[in-house]
Amino acid sequence: MFNFTEDQHAIVDSARRMVAQELTSELVSHPVDRPLPKAAMLKIFAALARFGITAPRLPESAGGGGLSMVDYGLIVEQLPPVIALSLLSHEGTVARLYAGCPPEITQTYLADLIAGRKICCTANSEPEAGSDSRAIRTKVAIEGEHAVVNGSKIWITNASVADVFNVSCTDGMDAHGRPVSRRVLVDRAASPFSVREIPVMGLQQGHLGELNFEDCRVPVGHIIGEQGDAAKYLTLGWNVNRPLIGLMTVHLAQRAFELAAQHAADRRQFGKALAAHQLVQQDLADIETAIVTSRLLCLHALEAVDRGVRANGISAMAKRYATQACERAILLAMQIHGGMGISQEMGIDRLWRDARMFQVPDGTNGTLALIHGRELTGIAAFR
Ligand SMILES: Cc1cc2nc3c(=O)[nH]c(=O)nc-3n(C[C@H](O)[C@H](O)[C@H](O)COP(=O)(O)OP(=O)(O)OC[C@H]3O[C@@H](n4cnc5c(N)ncnc54)[C@H](O)[C@@H]3O)c2cc1C
Repeated sequence: MFNFTEDQHAIVDSARRMVAQELTSELVSHPVDRPLPKAAMLKIFAALARFGITAPRLPESAGGGGLSMVDYGLIVEQLPPVIALSLLSHEGTVARLYAGCPPEITQTYLADLIAGRKICCTANSEPEAGSDSRAIRTKVAIEGEHAVVNGSKIWITNASVADVFNVSCTDGMDAHGRPVSRRVLVDRAASPFSVREIPVMGLQQGHLGELNFEDCRVPVGHIIGEQGDAAKYLTLGWNVNRPLIGLMTVHLAQRAFELAAQHAADRRQFGKALAAHQLVQQDLADIETAIVTSRLLCLHALEAVDRGVRANGISAMAKRYATQACERAILLAMQIHGGMGISQEMGIDRLWRDARMFQVPDGTNGTLALIHGRELTGIAAFR
């Protein structure tokens, strides 16, 4: 586990080359504080498709990458986090659509999604259903040949650039008064609905949006899977997504470390380099420790997933630990820069704002502690 194979070193090297040659140039040609245009996103997704990571969780026989999640995690750590989160939304949705899709839907949509010609996302969160992700109210009702969707979704990654939406809906209550979930595929071009971009503090080249469905009609065949299975497929996805999101914060902390180490070597105070002062060395040691422990814990969780272990607790632990440890590491790097740390010219503030975003999606740190605690005690303390 700790000795990467030659193949894994090669995967990391080729991911770094792909980022340098295809992704960085696209990101730097657009403002850092505004969502990228759809055309830029399609170029990025075409590059990700050529690299074989638009469907890493699908077997090769289905056109997917057939990657182990550890190998995928090694790649995700190399990607610019704003792209990594968009990819996670897209490819996680591809995996959810693949599970239980009727063949005609698979044929209509999966090829374009895997080739990066279309972008997709999953819409579960609602104004009244956040951490309590099963409390959804968006309704689907069958009317003859159509399913009619009504309701709203919020905080949806990729919303304004996506073509295909996997929308969690409910078609009634169970015996305990809880919503029964259904997955509905909504093709925005054929079944229009409104999308509003939400301005946010970090990952500002990305897309986070609110959706409103008013009598949105889709073919009845676009209801996917079995009644009540939306929550199950969300959870399966989240157990993989959580350590992957942790690795996105590792990427940010690693960048902050490199800037801080360079600054500590260059900047002199009290007659010697900052790096020669004991407390600065301690800060650098703390940053490196946060990076290495976070990376190992996230890879440990992904390796458990690869072994088929039920990874609820360890995935929650990995994301909560990594997002907190890496946020603190970036703040230490900021402090080593003194006044330069808070100037927007250095860009460390952006690393921190980007990292802060990751403490919310796919389980807030509070929710992750409760998931981990439930695994440890066998007692759910959510309600
Ligand atoms: C960058 C980003 C991307 C996202 N992408 C998507 C996406 O693609 N699709 C999607 O469906 N959603 C997405 N989300 C939404 C995300 O999943 C929700 O924001 C998250 O589940 C929290 O819900 P909330 O914002 O309503 O907070 P709330 O649920 O209102 O929580 C507020 C606070 O209360 C705490 N809290 C809640 N319940 C408890 C409890 N029982 N005990 C103790 N504390 C509690 C939480 O930990 C949190 O600190 C995204 C969010 C972000 C920030």
